[in-house]
Amino acid sequence: MIMSDNHTLEKALPTALSPSSASTFSQCPQRWKFRYIDRLPDPPGRSALLGTFAHAVLEHLFQEEPESRTKEKAKSIASALWPETDSDPDFIALGLDDQEKTAFKRDCMSAFNGVWEIDKYKPETVDVESTELNVQVQLGDVPFRGIIDLVHREDGNLIISDFKSGKAPKTARDEDEKMKQVLLYAAALREETDEHIEKVRLVFIGNSTNKDYERVVTEELMHEPVSELHDTWGEIQTSCQSGSFETKTGPLCEWCPYVDKCIDGVNQVIQRFNAGRIRDDAPAMKIFGWTGKAITQVAE
Ligand code: SF4
Repeated sequence: MIMSDNHTLEKALPTALSPSSASTFSQCPQRWKFRYIDRLPDPPGRSALLGTFAHAVLEHLFQEEPESRTKEKAKSIASALWPETDSDPDFIALGLDDQEKTAFKRDCMSAFNGVWEIDKYKPETVDVESTELNVQVQLGDVPFRGIIDLVHREDGNLIISDFKSGKAPKTARDEDEKMKQVLLYAAALREETDEHIEKVRLVFIGNSTNKDYERVVTEELMHEPVSELHDTWGEIQTSCQSGSFETKTGPLCEWCPYVDKCIDGVNQVIQRFNAGRIRDDAPAMKIFGWTGKAITQVAE
């Protein structure tokens, strides 16, 4: 548990809660504090940058007239957007050589080309309402904000979709967890527009799967994520008032960009390293400059 000056923290309380912010707090309140109160940088890794690039291509593509949404158009959008990514400090920080950059571009292309493999999302046929829609509403007592990748219509009904470039969920439980984000979007968009949202979907564009990760939206389904959001918002306020933020250690510490600032996290990753349980590409390996040797000094 790390204590901080509660007057400063109350003033720094974010004005709105996004699904990713809520999820970070649930994973580890201290990591949330580093990110959202102390505003320490959380540089995205290769897969996050790849997802951002593929999203940007699809966003621009879906803004075209349906007949213009071709693979050639997607490729030309990608070429036009590439210099921005190539000069992004976060991308430069990855330190990719020419071969690795080529592999990055190839993986981006296969991610955004993935939509043509999904029957419901063939770009020429999607009836687009909006892309990258910024929603900012009050959900109960929580000021909520989120960005919805795609809102479109099927048979006149509103559908919310979130594009994912990562791996599709392997278990029903994992799928339910991931669905909470889009159900929150449904609750927020309904609040903002007063329009019924028929379905929410997660679209795994890098996985060439036609399995539907979707839910028909009901009050009952939206209730759980909205209620969890309310609880998380309450816990955030309590932490900011008391100035104490719990550290939740576990395997995620090795992927935490702030691990060198967190004693509990340092001890956790040292144990995992000595047990041979840290992946070579985990940020902790780079942060501490570790190679293959066991570490004997444990932080206090
Ligand atoms: S290192 Fe682990 S315990 Fe520490 S802030 Fe990061 S996730 Fe939380």
